[in-house]
Amino acid sequence: MWSQWRGSRALAEPGALERRLFRLIDRGGPIPLSLFMAYANAHYYATRDPLGVGGDFVTAPEISQMFGEMIGLWCADVVMRSGRGDDVALVELGPGRGTLMADVLRAMARFNLMPPVHLVETSPVLRDLQAAAVPFAHFHDDCTSLPGDVPLIVIANEFFDALPVRQIECTAQGWRERMVGVDGDRFVMTAGSTPMDAAVPAQWRAMPPGTVIETSPASMAVAQDLTRLIARQGGVALIIDYGHCRSAPGDTVQAVAQHRYATLLDQPGERDLTAHVDFAAFAAVAGQAGLRVSGPVGQGAFLRNLGIEERAAALMARHRDAADALTAQRDRLCGDDQMGQLFKVMAAGHPDWPVPEGFGQ
Ligand code: SAH
Repeated sequence: MWSQWRGSRALAEPGALERRLFRLIDRGGPIPLSLFMAYANAHYYATRDPLGVGGDFVTAPEISQMFGEMIGLWCADVVMRSGRGDDVALVELGPGRGTLMADVLRAMARFNLMPPVHLVETSPVLRDLQAAAVPFAHFHDDCTSLPGDVPLIVIANEFFDALPVRQIECTAQGWRERMVGVDGDRFVMTAGSTPMDAAVPAQWRAMPPGTVIETSPASMAVAQDLTRLIARQGGVALIIDYGHCRSAPGDTVQAVAQHRYATLLDQPGERDLTAHVDFAAFAAVAGQAGLRVSGPVGQGAFLRNLGIEERAAALMARHRDAADALTAQRDRLCGDDQMGQLFKVMAAGHPDWPVPEGFGQ
């Protein structure tokens, strides 16, 4: 579906996607929330750079170079201890402006490591920025075309939260998929007509009406592709995102525009739709592929374990006038009331690979 939307000029006109979805639903009936979210986010990312103070949201690598440097150290450590050195493919999923990968490569170069870089990205706008930040990168539409003969070191920061989720709601008539319909000139959420009881895990079947269960088949498909490749070729994947350690019922889908929460169904494709990442579901997929899972731990603990305090102190000693800014950046990345707890970090690696750093004992 992505390729169908890429590069389509007509869709860049304001409201074009909204009109198209209206027609689709009007003719064919309500569509699953997951499909709405897939259309909306494909359009959103294909038509803009949403990152930064002037955009819709800010991510960890855009807050401070220290974030990418810590991830770069993490990569350097694991490839050196594996004995493979540069003989790996360094992969990033959804690299945004390419800032994280550029910082990672700078940190790895200090250890004379210059692995080939593979970026999985569908947005033409962001690909241009990534190509400028990482000139030698190879681009991929999805994971299926990644190299098939070397271990993969995979980084995914705030990637999975952008993938569509499916929601199933407990109604008085039983469990139903949540769909997006139209009422007059508005999009509305409606319960679908097909019984979904069989899709609900046994422990949640008896939940009260109104309970919502969320799954992300799109994320699980990517996780399966990746974990199979790592099981066959070696390597390790690092997932950083906001979400929960245990699967639990709840509606976590949000819309964000200009750093504020926005209404979910209005102006599809003009705001970022995200959902919390279910780390337990990832761990289960990785376990089925025979990989070893580390974490999840909070982003604050992970970065402190890798030495962000020492890195911040070294930068402050060299740039005294920037000490306040560096302290604020470190606190934003690591603080318990900022990104430190809400964001989690998990690794899934080949069992013959070294246990990665950062996850404590
Ligand atoms: N990792 C970056 C950007 C996060 S925003 C950072 O931390 O700053 C999400 C990124 O995922 C964007 O680059 C977006 O274009 C990309 N993306 C979203 N859905 C995608 C998909 N289905 N396939 C590939 N890339 C996708």
